[in-house]
Amino acid sequence: MKKLSEEIAHYLQRLFPLNRSLTGEGNRETLRIISEIAPVRLFEYPSGSRIYDWMIPDEWHVREAWIKDSSGRILVDFLRNNLHLMGYSVPVRRTMSFAELRPHLHVHPFLKDAIPYHTSYFKKQWGFCLSTEQLESLFSPEGIYEVCVDSELKPGSLTVGEILLPGTSQKEYLVSTYICHPSLANDNLSGILLTALLAREWATRKRNFGYRFIFVPETLGALAYCANNEAAVKDLMGALVVTGVGGPGSFSYKQSFQKEHFLNGMVEDTLNELHRAFLTYPFDIHGSDERQYSSPGFRINTVTISRDRYYEYPEYHSSLDNLEFVRPEYLLSCYEAYLRLLEKMDQNLVFIRTEPHGEPRLGARGLYPETGGGSGPNGMERVSWT
Ligand code: ZN
Repeated sequence: MKKLSEEIAHYLQRLFPLNRSLTGEGNRETLRIISEIAPVRLFEYPSGSRIYDWMIPDEWHVREAWIKDSSGRILVDFLRNNLHLMGYSVPVRRTMSFAELRPHLHVHPFLKDAIPYHTSYFKKQWGFCLSTEQLESLFSPEGIYEVCVDSELKPGSLTVGEILLPGTSQKEYLVSTYICHPSLANDNLSGILLTALLAREWATRKRNFGYRFIFVPETLGALAYCANNEAAVKDLMGALVVTGVGGPGSFSYKQSFQKEHFLNGMVEDTLNELHRAFLTYPFDIHGSDERQYSSPGFRINTVTISRDRYYEYPEYHSSLDNLEFVRPEYLLSCYEAYLRLLEKMDQNLVFIRTEPHGEPRLGARGLYPETGGGSGPNGMERVSWT
């Protein structure tokens, strides 16, 4: 286990700084690095493609983005932390007053030392995110600032990754995680890494069922994958969404939309067997890609096991969700739970009787006493009456 924990620490360090988003090179680079762990096949869905009620937007690239004061000092710099730039910011290069700049500056609502995480995928705008401390100490209402967002939005594609592990049966499960968040460790670098490690281990096992491990940008990436694999997705037996698996908080699980579904029971058995106390979140329409997989067109029961689930920890969607918050040993504890859950899912065999008409003849198979008519059931003698 020590080796695995060192490996987790290594990949967390390498993957954390990449500029992941809805599209772009950061996502491809993440998947290339992940394919060192388990062979991921990349699929590209072009900008402009219609995906149900959605459309894949242009691909986003950033070279640099910063704000300088009138002395030329850099105050906020994308290259220091990619959270400083609002995701999908359009290009800008101008000098402006603080009054003009202020509507483009975003701070965290209650953590004064945290940079918040913001995106604007569909509205064309630009913005910088910074801590309240930075805003208060570095900017003044009389100041004049030079603003540079050297970004590009151009036709390209949305990238998803897939690892297919066939089983004896044609029936399949889905294990899905999202790759669209930049430097945020628990949400959801932890999920990306856990899914890759799980796929590598699961590839070595003898499997009754088939498994699709997918790495998709949240929402639109999940839908693009569904649209391009519609028949297979509709036929899935169930799905897991891996998110928030690297924090120090207690275990929790989100139930699938059918409370009595076998996946919910299996998650509870798994966590009980591992002696993990856990919180239960009933299904609701907020959350991650279970929103898509559970929609009426697919109706896939989907569960999630987390430690520090989205919405539930203060560092969520801020620069404090970092590599001090996430630790390899926390991630390993969730890895162990997901692996145990997969083992249960794979043993969920349903035996179908090939000759269902009437009782089978037990005697012909040596399963019934040769002398029938005893005083008890199954031709046996009843030996007591108390
Ligand atoms: Zn998120």
